[in-house]
Amino acid sequence: MRLSSFGEKFAGDSGISGLMDDLGAALADDPTLLFMGGGNPGRIESVQAAFASRLVDIAEDRGQRHQLLGLYQEPQGDRVFRDELARFLGREYGWSIGAENIALANGSQSAFFVLYNLFAGPASDGSERQIHLPMCPEYVGYRDIGLSHHFFTATRPRIERFDDGQFKYHVDAEALSLSESTAALCVSRPSNPTGNVISDAEVAALDQLAKARDIPLILDGAYGQPFPGLIKEAATAFWNDNSILMLSLSKLGLPGVRSGLVIARPEIAQAFSRANTVVSLACGTLGPQLLRGMLDDGSLMQLCRKDIQPYYSERRDLAIRAIEAGRGDLPVWIHKPEGAFFLWLWCEGLPIDSFTLYERLKKRGVIVLPGNDFFIATGDDWPHSRECLRISYAGDQQTIDAGIALIMSELQQTYNSL
Ligand code: PLP
Repeated sequence: MRLSSFGEKFAGDSGISGLMDDLGAALADDPTLLFMGGGNPGRIESVQAAFASRLVDIAEDRGQRHQLLGLYQEPQGDRVFRDELARFLGREYGWSIGAENIALANGSQSAFFVLYNLFAGPASDGSERQIHLPMCPEYVGYRDIGLSHHFFTATRPRIERFDDGQFKYHVDAEALSLSESTAALCVSRPSNPTGNVISDAEVAALDQLAKARDIPLILDGAYGQPFPGLIKEAATAFWNDNSILMLSLSKLGLPGVRSGLVIARPEIAQAFSRANTVVSLACGTLGPQLLRGMLDDGSLMQLCRKDIQPYYSERRDLAIRAIEAGRGDLPVWIHKPEGAFFLWLWCEGLPIDSFTLYERLKKRGVIVLPGNDFFIATGDDWPHSRECLRISYAGDQQTIDAGIALIMSELQQTYNSL
């Protein structure tokens, strides 16, 4: 098979697709593995039942059924849903938004592919522009997304340690330097992988930086406000004309539905949907159809507050207690868990790199994600980038207890071998 450069870059098994293949193969070989590795949301029966009941209503109504199955939507996606979402955002946050500010996509991952490549890469003036990650480690799904090489630049965070064995990343304002070739800033809030939630002040500072350079600030709110709202700390939802808020229905419990939302000024929303039309023709109808009416009548936010958020906060506390019980005096730090559903462990001075640790843990029956791949464009000369692990606590209590016990036992052995 003779591939183009595009083919070589995107069909290769480097980076995240290699890791995903490895995870898939490991699970196929041994389905009893404790899975704390992926980004799957938790299985919450009451949430699935609520969406199933919506699905039945849609299927039984001839008009809605036809909307769901039988029609291509306009390029920016289901207008009735976009109107409802715009009304909701106006009511909830006071944002001045209309349907023209919203573009739908088939999952936010594919939305990122289109959006990032709209801004970064080679430009017609001969320049080459990059997406800047102002506080990296960042979501591994960005890593291979660029159509060109050298697609990202990044700033390492400042690290604050706390007496209880937790630590926290902050945007390092002194180290953060942008250049003429910076095309946009992007940060996930809450962060995948770390569970960090950058503060309102940090968001305001990034917003100022972006405005000063006339580049967009992209906020990835896959886990954040308004839904599913997996944020423990007080944090104000943020959007303005210079920012782009990326949302997803996946972490509501609907990753199979493949529905993402781009909220931006009309010019950007339109540019996005034109490019997205080339790639996808039209967006899937299932996500918007399922949610129709659930923002107007408050039932979606009710589901988030009553079912989804408590589910994750309970599991987060369990996971932290299990780590605290197992770490003894190891130099294993937990990133302050402020949001999303991951714990980010920093195993300071780890005698092996985190990929080797991942391999050993897999052999012992637990799957996590090694931290290495989340350090996108932070440089190779930073030991910290080889010392971290991402653990999902979205699973059931048994998985959390047994998985973390194995992780801590392996860490004890690894440090003791020093
Ligand atoms: N952004 C973040 C931070 C994520 O963690 C994920 C998925 O795990 C995505 C975007 C992509 O989500 P989806 O394509 O399912 O909308």
